[in-house]
Amino acid sequence: MVFRSNMFLALEQARAAAERGEVPVGAVIIAPDGTVVAADGNRTRELNDPTAHAEVLVIRAACARLGAERLNEYDLYVTLEPCPMCAGAISNARIRRLYYAAEDAKSGGVAHGARVFEHRQCHHRPEVYDGVGGAEAEALLKTFFAGKRA
Ligand SMILES: [Zn+2]
Repeated sequence: MVFRSNMFLALEQARAAAERGEVPVGAVIIAPDGTVVAADGNRTRELNDPTAHAEVLVIRAACARLGAERLNEYDLYVTLEPCPMCAGAISNARIRRLYYAAEDAKSGGVAHGARVFEHRQCHHRPEVYDGVGGAEAEALLKTFFAGKRA
């Protein structure tokens, strides 16, 4: 099923991010025809850039590749509920559908906190699907942060 395999690709990116010592979050952007146009994981440490979240990196890469500032009809899969910054970027990019795996009660900005897409200043709301592959994404994050504390 395409739907599951796309989150599988995001989870692969999350694992690769963990191996680089980054918070394990991965994202992919899928074109209307089902092809992957961008895939990446967090790189805030590597780039010394607090905005280098997986979602921002794949939106930038996809827009650069397409030569467009918007991604209408494109779907974004990410392993963790987007933070308010990324939710804002997703809205500005006009992403069609957002699929996220694990919830983030602490820093999420979709179902928690700022709830960016529900705000009346939000001009574009993607269709949101949560919980796809959530258990695996959560396990990755727990392992990562358990390692940090040890
Ligand atoms: Zn973010």
